[in-house]
Amino acid sequence: MSKTTQVPELFGSMVFNEEVMRQRLSPASYKAWRKCIEEGTALDLTIANDIAEAMKQWATEKGVTHFTHWFQPMTGYTAEKHDSFITPVEGGSKVVMEFSGKELVRGEPDASSFPSGGLRATFEARGYTAWDPTSFAFIKGTSLYIPTVFCSYSGEVLDKKAPLLRSMDEVSRQAIRILRLFGDTESRRVTPQVGAEQEYFLLDKQAFLKREDLRLCGRTLFGAKPPKGQELDDHYFGAIRPRVAAYMRDLDEELWKVGVLSKTKHNEVAPSQHEMAPIYSDANTACDHNQLAMDLMKEVADRHDLVCLLHEKPFAGVNGSGKHDNWSLATDTGKNLFKPGKTPSQNAQFLLFLAAFIKGVDEYQKLLRCTVAFAGNDHRLGAQEAPPAVISIFLGDELGAVVDAIISGREYTDAGKKTLEIGVDVLPSIPMDNTDRNRTSPLAFTGNKFEFRMLGSTQSIAGPNIALNTMMAEELSQFADRLEASSDFQGDLQKLIRETLTEHRRIIFNGNGYEAAWIEEAERRGLANLKTTAEALPHYTDPEHVALFTKHGVFTAQEMAARQEIHMENYCTVLSIEATTMVDMLRHEILPAVSNYGAVLCNRLHTLKEAGLPCRYEQSIAMRVTEKTDALADITEELETALAQVPSGSTEEQMHYYHNVIFALMGKARVLADEMEQITDRDYWPFPTYSTLLFSV
Ligand code: ADP
Ligand code: MG
Repeated sequence: MSKTTQVPELFGSMVFNEEVMRQRLSPASYKAWRKCIEEGTALDLTIANDIAEAMKQWATEKGVTHFTHWFQPMTGYTAEKHDSFITPVEGGSKVVMEFSGKELVRGEPDASSFPSGGLRATFEARGYTAWDPTSFAFIKGTSLYIPTVFCSYSGEVLDKKAPLLRSMDEVSRQAIRILRLFGDTESRRVTPQVGAEQEYFLLDKQAFLKREDLRLCGRTLFGAKPPKGQELDDHYFGAIRPRVAAYMRDLDEELWKVGVLSKTKHNEVAPSQHEMAPIYSDANTACDHNQLAMDLMKEVADRHDLVCLLHEKPFAGVNGSGKHDNWSLATDTGKNLFKPGKTPSQNAQFLLFLAAFIKGVDEYQKLLRCTVAFAGNDHRLGAQEAPPAVISIFLGDELGAVVDAIISGREYTDAGKKTLEIGVDVLPSIPMDNTDRNRTSPLAFTGNKFEFRMLGSTQSIAGPNIALNTMMAEELSQFADRLEASSDFQGDLQKLIRETLTEHRRIIFNGNGYEAAWIEEAERRGLANLKTTAEALPHYTDPEHVALFTKHGVFTAQEMAARQEIHMENYCTVLSIEATTMVDMLRHEILPAVSNYGAVLCNRLHTLKEAGLPCRYEQSIAMRVTEKTDALADITEELETALAQVPSGSTEEQMHYYHNVIFALMGKARVLADEMEQITDRDYWPFPTYSTLLFSV
């Protein structure tokens, strides 16, 4: 593709979307599929057969030979197993291409090695995948990808999609109850809308391959600060270099083909850091598309002799990568429920949804914190670049003033000079905030949506959205219970909004979230400050969180315990791999190199001394190098010993050990190694340094 005029044809060309279905399915099958999407009715096998046949026809015309049930196990990545369409005929001497409704609807991957947190007993180790007809099938390479959910035969969910779909249903049900109270009889469904902005780094592949830490851990475990980093702010939104531009163009094409609405691309704060943002869509599609985008980012990079790093913190001392989860609720009639309206009634409705959100975030702050807690994100949250680990909501000046006025019963406009009567008065206009003026807030209202900014760049966006949807469902259900029973809707609505905002005001913070003063203030307000994964994850199964998810049928208590176990185990595994890699690099690369360099220095010193020549420099550098080499050898040994002594207790105990002991030692080893890098002759240093890596493309 070269001309932009071809983009409309390119877009979605590899997607079995609604348009293709309308063209290729029988009217009856198409209608049944629509009904299934709109009303959640089951599809019978004849319809499934019909759809499968059409899918196969369409796919094989495009050279496809295989199909795969594409699912999202609790690893946070996607999984796929490819089956070809071939079916033997004439005693196996020939084949035809076949794909049945049964194969479309259900699959059985040998999934016994996916993490289940103990949910699947060995006697029923197999799980099955089931087609998600609300997300379109698509072609990648020579396979037809069928988005599926993954569960066990006893019905426990083993993936990230099934609970997301459940949470979407639940928030819809509760939001519709509220809309009915406001006289909306038209809307039939409310759907969370999500746009996930994705940050990433691009490195030259040759430089990448020379670093074991990058290859095994996706981040550098060593590396002194380069003379130039991001200080000049010359990279942010800077001109995109040709090699990167070529990559981005290629990536866009791949994304468009599979229907991802890739919209913006630009350079980010750190050198070599970039961002891609799609246009928002329903949360389920957004989640699938974000997974797809992450896969394609890596694949396309490979073709360009580049490597795409999605890790939250590939380099110490320069900005890490996050993912902003833009979230709102929209009706099937096209109304955004977080858009301040033009009439008093619309505004009252907006304020009620806003109050529900504020109450939800305040009550479930620890849960939200848990959904972004994992080893990689510990390097960002609270580390002077990403939002702090304390959750708060930024409303901006205009909306903040409205909320203050409601709480205090004060005049809300200078012009009007009267107290705000919700449902009677029109709000002062609340402009769309496109200014990004408060980058420090973990959850910012940006005019018609909330932007959850604590997500890490590698993570699936499912978890945070499951929590946002379910928390919102809970608050809306409480509001609906109360208002449905009311005989004075206007009066009680006023009271409810005012009461809620007053009670949960502490979660609103419009200032600078990076300041130490805020952390103190937050503690005074009683907000949670769960600084690390090890501190956060034990709260995942707090009674109020279990109550929330079980009440809304999103998770059972066992499913939550299983998820918690998987997340804690994952933390331990990541730390173990990182620490082991560190030891390996120290033992086999850094220590030999610095010891070698030390020896050279000593020889030189010896020669100079013998000749009676000045050798102050050689003396001092040899001293520093040999001293630090010893210290580094000591800490390497300490780390090895600590790794051999991981306690055999519960996963939670191990997680604390990894955090308190291993992580702390890794920090010490790194400081020493980085100091050595700075005094070692470049020719002796065993792998590319930050200057090379960060400015490699
Ligand atoms: P900014 O980050 O500068 O505010 P935008 O407002 O354009 O940029 O959007 C950032 C992301 O939010 C994009 O992915 C966009 O599609 C998404 N977005 C915009 N409006 C909504 C909405 N109502 N609901 C969910 N996501 C939205
Ligand atoms: Mg943004």
